[in-house]
Amino acid sequence: MKVALFGAEGKVGRALAPRLEAAGYEVRGIELGDDPDVTGCDAAVDFTTPDAAPTNVRAALEQGVSCVVGTTGWEPGELGALAAEKGIRLFVAPNFSIGAVLMMRFARDAAAHFPRAEIVELHNEAKRDAPSGTAKATADLIGGDPAIHSVRLPGLVAHQEVIFGGEGQLLTIRHDTTGRESFADGVLLALEKLPELPPGLTIGLESLVS
Ligand code: NAP
Repeated sequence: MKVALFGAEGKVGRALAPRLEAAGYEVRGIELGDDPDVTGCDAAVDFTTPDAAPTNVRAALEQGVSCVVGTTGWEPGELGALAAEKGIRLFVAPNFSIGAVLMMRFARDAAAHFPRAEIVELHNEAKRDAPSGTAKATADLIGGDPAIHSVRLPGLVAHQEVIFGGEGQLLTIRHDTTGRESFADGVLLALEKLPELPPGLTIGLESLVS
């Protein structure tokens, strides 16, 4: 299978390309300024910027190619409608780490018992959007409009803790991404499941992890 990789020279792209190749995919790397020609590809993957992703995804969908997108900080609704119109798939996940999906699931469970929570998300200083897509998704999942605190510092990769406060007790659920390789397993899972998804937009790795 051939996969177009938008953002192949980015931090995630550089970690992802060798994992895709090791899994048997032929990877066509597409960088800023390249022609977004994805003809002949079975799927396109995008880890770029919030400005670039909508243009890349639209180009791929218009060429009839389904997309798996990790770029955060943009709204995929309109392009989901385009994918549905074309009978192809747009899969978007704010976090491709299995541990992060479990962190969100455990937080949702905890929220049933602890009505007060706040979220602290910590990322490398190069991350352009704040709060992170994972923090916003977690807030939606646990409800109650929790405060989100965003930290951007060198040395960080991607980390989040959800702190629940109750009378005389605290519960902290924390996930740390220590290497960008952790996103590759989620991307491989999404590529594998892509043909089974309904046409149009699917959001979140949790929809693929039972
Ligand atoms: P990064 O290191 O800045 O990489 C982005 C890459 O995209 C750069 O090489 C950039 O090129 C390139 N690019 C920019 N515009 C492009 C275009 N129009 N077409 C093709 N490539 C283009 O960022 P990163 O850390 O890899 O993160 C990328 C995105 O993924 C961010 O939105 C981040 O929040 C998100 N992310 C998501 C997950 C997840 O699990 N969902 C995990 C990590 C990161 P230049 O350097 O030349 O501009």
